Amino acid sequence: MKIKFWGTRGSTPVPGKDTIIYGGNTTCLEMDLMSGKKIIIDAGTGIRALGNELESHKENIDIYLLITHIHWDHILGFPFFSPIYQPSTKIQVDGYNLCMKGLRYSFDNKMGDGFWPIRFEELSADIQFIDKLKNGSLEIDGALIDTVPLRHPQGGLGFRFREEGKTFVFLTDNELDVADKSFSDYIAFCKEADILIHDSHYTPEEITKHRGWGHSDYQSAIDLALKANVKKLVLFHHAPERKDSDMIKLTILCQDLIKEKNADLEIETAKENSVLVL
Ligand SMILES: [Zn+2]
Ligand SMILES: [Zn+2]
Repeated sequence: MKIKFWGTRGSTPVPGKDTIIYGGNTTCLEMDLMSGKKIIIDAGTGIRALGNELESHKENIDIYLLITHIHWDHILGFPFFSPIYQPSTKIQVDGYNLCMKGLRYSFDNKMGDGFWPIRFEELSADIQFIDKLKNGSLEIDGALIDTVPLRHPQGGLGFRFREEGKTFVFLTDNELDVADKSFSDYIAFCKEADILIHDSHYTPEEITKHRGWGHSDYQSAIDLALKANVKKLVLFHHAPERKDSDMIKLTILCQDLIKEKNADLEIETAKENSVLVL
């Protein structure tokens, strides 16, 4: 598996001079399976540049799109994903049960005059909701995908990908609470993962004012990674106000925390355009 970050930011896009290193686009990841099949996770604003990249290869686009949940930072980029305007494009959508509603609503929610010049129905691409994850695992070219419910307002799904003995877990927009019984479910879901990407929107100081908002702080993400014996933790869903200089400090602070514990855990913070291979 190869994973590329096209959007690492939470809540709202924040372009500008303070977000050049870690990126200003909201959630979008590109995954390549061993077979070469592509899976996109979430359609935040990062998906716009990914669409341009895919179209530059001049091949028919045949991809899966998995949606964690339909908060706007995870679907906002969909109308700007240029392959949806090509009749040769095929997109198989799965994920959270409301995901098609979210993708449609990025064009028009029927309550107003529409958010976009054309309607969802006018898109040229073949976009199918395959809805297989609700019944358990989804298999794509030998890779197995499982889900876990997120602790997040309005709900959502986390994803686990397993291929040729490697495990990658993606859990964003997830409020960890060691006192809640869900914590042990997350430990089981992430057990022995090679890479865990987890929401760390807040610092431990900030989260005290934001309990119930559906996000975690880096300390609880580290606790989960250690308890689940994860090899590498990648902190994700960076707060919009977090500048590159803050992110660098936060990364060093987290790496020092791991060193103090003498733990065998690699830790990094997600950077737009960076690639993970496993
Ligand atoms: Zn989000
Ligand atoms: Zn959310």
